[in-house]
Amino acid sequence: MRILNILNLLGTAYAITEQVSQELLDLHKNLILNPSITRNETLAVDFLSTYLQSKGWNVELQDVINKDINPDIKRQNIFAYLNDPQDVKMILNSHTDVVPPYVDYHYTTDEQGRDVIYGRGANDAKGQIAAQITAAQQVRSADPEMSKSIGLLYDLGEEGIFDGAKHAQDNLPPNLEYFIVGEPTQLEMISGHKGNMGFEIRAKGLAAHSSSPHWGVNAIEKLSEAILKLESVSLPHDELLGDTTMAVTKISGGTAMNKVPDEAVAYVNVRTSVPTDVTWQVLTETGLESEWIEIVLVDEPHNPVILDTVDNWRPVQTMPFGTDLFAWKHPTAKKMLIGCGSVSSAHKLDEHIYKDELVEGVDVYVELITGLLEGTLKTSTTKQEQAEQHKHVKDEL
Ligand SMILES: [Zn+2]
Repeated sequence: MRILNILNLLGTAYAITEQVSQELLDLHKNLILNPSITRNETLAVDFLSTYLQSKGWNVELQDVINKDINPDIKRQNIFAYLNDPQDVKMILNSHTDVVPPYVDYHYTTDEQGRDVIYGRGANDAKGQIAAQITAAQQVRSADPEMSKSIGLLYDLGEEGIFDGAKHAQDNLPPNLEYFIVGEPTQLEMISGHKGNMGFEIRAKGLAAHSSSPHWGVNAIEKLSEAILKLESVSLPHDELLGDTTMAVTKISGGTAMNKVPDEAVAYVNVRTSVPTDVTWQVLTETGLESEWIEIVLVDEPHNPVILDTVDNWRPVQTMPFGTDLFAWKHPTAKKMLIGCGSVSSAHKLDEHIYKDELVEGVDVYVELITGLLEGTLKTSTTKQEQAEQHKHVKDEL
């Protein structure tokens, strides 16, 4: 109800016409049709940078060098603005890369008569890019002066390696105040998301012929005992982000069918609601380690991220999974996370978004951009305030 009122107040200047709706769908379609699986984002980045230039945006391409990736593959972040980077106060951001495998574009109407678009990246995150650019264009045609404050930043490598976002930190505009990230959140604001860390349980044993197992120590059995012990570990809890969870996601061990294995390894993925060093301390004090078992932190740990939200606007939630907001270190810019569509189909073969979700995404982004830049929407920042707001929304639901 409140959204409708605000949109009415905004007036018809921002109303989405049939033509704008078609441009939104065309942009979304072309983004999906240009594959951009992480580490091979070139096609979608080339398409998008050309598209933005054709619309009159100044486009800067940032080469992202990653020593683990073939340097012959052109990998670039896109930063676009309308006037001067010094004028940019607000960045709209999402990521151009997608998870494998590629899923082709398919537009159809479901049994309820809703138009639905299938394809890799339909919601994570090419739907966000299409909605953000369309919103920025709407603001631009209604208020050219205001639109000079908007920058568009589309980084790559978000699905697991975060190299695009890390690289972009060195090239942010000097007067940045707001940083708005698009991921599929069903247009709810996200007040925080968990951190991410991984460790290995490494079991050692003594090799022996499998016909005489009592002469050896079976590393797979030792590893199995350690994995079962994980269930009794009490992990830290946070008032805002909830329980820290973990899952054994990879396992390997043994080399021959007739040999008692002397090595076995399991990988455990942890989604932590408290700083990673606190969680790691708990894990190392649980008695998992023994003469035969060692636990080793692998991969770069990422702390939970606390975000800014807008007072009395959209519903507020937390998220259990991560984004490349892990990499965003700007000391003063307000960081927000909101986008259209549902994460429930993201990364799946039936990834999709509804046309009406995309269109509503444009409306909500226009509302957020204009509200923040005009000062009619206010942000709330402290963790305590967020906890209260979050609780309030939960009570209402
Ligand atoms: Zn994403």
